[in-house]
This record gives sequence, C-alpha cells and structure tokens, in this order.
Amino acid sequence: MTLIDGKAIAQKTHAESRAAVAELKARGITPGLAVVLVGDDPASAAYVRSKDRMCHELGMHSVKHELPAATSQADLIAIVRQLNADPAIHGILVQSPPPPHIDERAVIEAIDPRKDVDGFHPLNVAKLTLGDPDGFVPCTPLGCQRLLIESGIETAGANVVVLGRSMIVGKPMALLLMNKGPGGDATVTVAHSRTRNLAAVCRTADILIAAIGRPEFVRADFVKEGAVVIDVGINRVDDPTAPKGYRLTGDVAFAEVAPHCRAITPVPGGVGPMTIAMLMANTIASCRRFAARV
Ligand code: NDP
Repeated sequence: MTLIDGKAIAQKTHAESRAAVAELKARGITPGLAVVLVGDDPASAAYVRSKDRMCHELGMHSVKHELPAATSQADLIAIVRQLNADPAIHGILVQSPPPPHIDERAVIEAIDPRKDVDGFHPLNVAKLTLGDPDGFVPCTPLGCQRLLIESGIETAGANVVVLGRSMIVGKPMALLLMNKGPGGDATVTVAHSRTRNLAAVCRTADILIAAIGRPEFVRADFVKEGAVVIDVGINRVDDPTAPKGYRLTGDVAFAEVAPHCRAITPVPGGVGPMTIAMLMANTIASCRRFAARV
C-alpha cells in the first residue's frame, strides 16, 4: 500500500508556483489574490489566514477583507465589484459559508468570472462541463486530480466512483475525471445519499473518491482489493484525549481500509494541502491570462 503524501505534492506545486511568480515579477507583474471573509467563524478565519500567508510565502500580492457578520449583501457585492475593477487583483474568493442573510449565489455571480479562481461562477461551471480549458476548476477536485497524476495513477479507462455530488467537490470531480486528457478519460459513477446498494457500487471502483462529510463512513466492505482511495473528508470528531478536545478524521475508516488499497490519502495531510496549492496555481494562471490580454 502506498500512502499518497499530499503535503509533499503540495510542496512541489508551491515550488512551481514560486518559480512562476518570480518569472511574472521579472516582467513587472505580481499575481494578486483577494479573500473576503464575512463574520467571525473561527474555521473560516483560519482558512483565510493560511491563504494570506501562502500568498506572502510565494511572493504574491494578497488583500484580505474581514467584514462584520452584519455586513449587508449590497455592501459585500460592492466590495466584490471594487475588486473586479482592481488591476492588481487576479483572483477573488469569498470565503464560504457566508452568514445566512447573504445569498451566496448572488455574490458568486457578482465576481468577474475571469477572477473567479474558486471556479464557482456559472460561466466556469459551464466551461468545465464543456471541457473548455479557459475556465477555472474548483480547487479541491483539481487538487485530487493532481494527486492522482503525480502519483502515477492512470485514470484513462478506470472505473471511478465519486461519493458525493456537491458543487464544491463531487460534481466538478466527476466532470474533471470524465473530460478528455491527462487525469481524465475515466468511466465515472457518482453516488450520493439516494444511491441503492452503496457499498456494492463503491466496490466497483478502481479509484474511489469519498467526499460526503461523514466521519469514517467508508468501511473495508466499500473497497475493492487493490483500489485507490482519495479521502476528501475533513470532519471534526470529539476526542477528550486530544489537546484541542477534537481530532480531524476523513470520510474513510483509514485503519480498516488502507490494508486493502493500492494507494490511499491520509487525513490530515492528503487532499487538504492540495486545495490551497491549487488556489495559488489558479490565481497565477489568471494573472498570466490578464497579462496576455493587454
Ligand atoms: P456537502 O455536504 O455539500 O455534500 C455531501 C455529499 O455527500 C452530498 O452529495 C450528499 O448526498 C452525500 N452524502 C451525505 N451523506 C451520505 C451518505 N450517508 N451516503 C451517501 N452519500 C451521502 O459536502 P462537501 O462536498 O462540501 O464536502 C464533503 C467533505 O469534504 C466534507 O467532509 C468537507 O469538510 C470536505 N471538504 C474538504 C476540502 C478539502 O480541502 N480537503 C474542501 C471541501 C470539502 P445528497 O446530495 O444526496 O444529500
């Protein structure tokens, strides 16, 4: 069994990003990312801090807007529009989830699709569906695909089961894997809460991608001998013995499943580090496209 080291692969991706930033800066262009956070959810605040830190580490321009939870939708959209017009910004991300009085879709649709480095704007969803490489692909599924490619796991012709059908992970993951090209050309099944005989469906997978948000839901009987398992789940589970009173676990019962796998990602240290790595890569790609337009 091979442990897929997401931290090491993310470091490799960051090294490529650092070189790309240096090359752009030599031409007088600095890739810029703006992250907007509404409210004071501690997990969201931690994600925003780590994105800001990573921008600095790679030599990128970073702007952070931390707005009070009572911020109106109109004021939030006004900030998004300012960022749309700002030539120093190539990527805009509004941290999810916003407070309940804000319509997340309306905010996403206000982002210039050319700066939508999260890939959630309908135009980018359409481009992924069309297999148009000019769009942006959501960072987590893009990171999973990169893990497979970097680990030498062939997707062409493979039976892949994607467990979960969210717009953030499951659906774009399925589209990426079924599109033509490296890391694609797979035969994809998407399973969800209404799937019958779920374990049997998952057992057909050469590659199983679990993204359901249920701690250790995928057990040994879900996994064919020799399958590759990518665990997207990040779940907090109460653990009085842990220093913080909780521990992080994936959607896969790792200890039980790993011995049956050809390769598997751990949690933490698997998919998680790739998400931020792909966010940086998308922002740099956006910067390059803007530079090519002028
Ligand atoms: P959502 O809650 O949006 O979607 C979960 C999906 O799983 C839904 O399609 C749901 O089905 C399906 N599902 C839920 N329970 C079951 C079940 N018992 N059996 C079968 N299918 C089920 O979650 P996300 O896609 O946003 O996230 C999934 C996981 O990935 C979470 O743990 C999240 O924390 C993690 N995540 C990790 C990231 C990273 O950077 N590593 C980034 C984003 C998410 P239905 O549609 O029928 O309700």
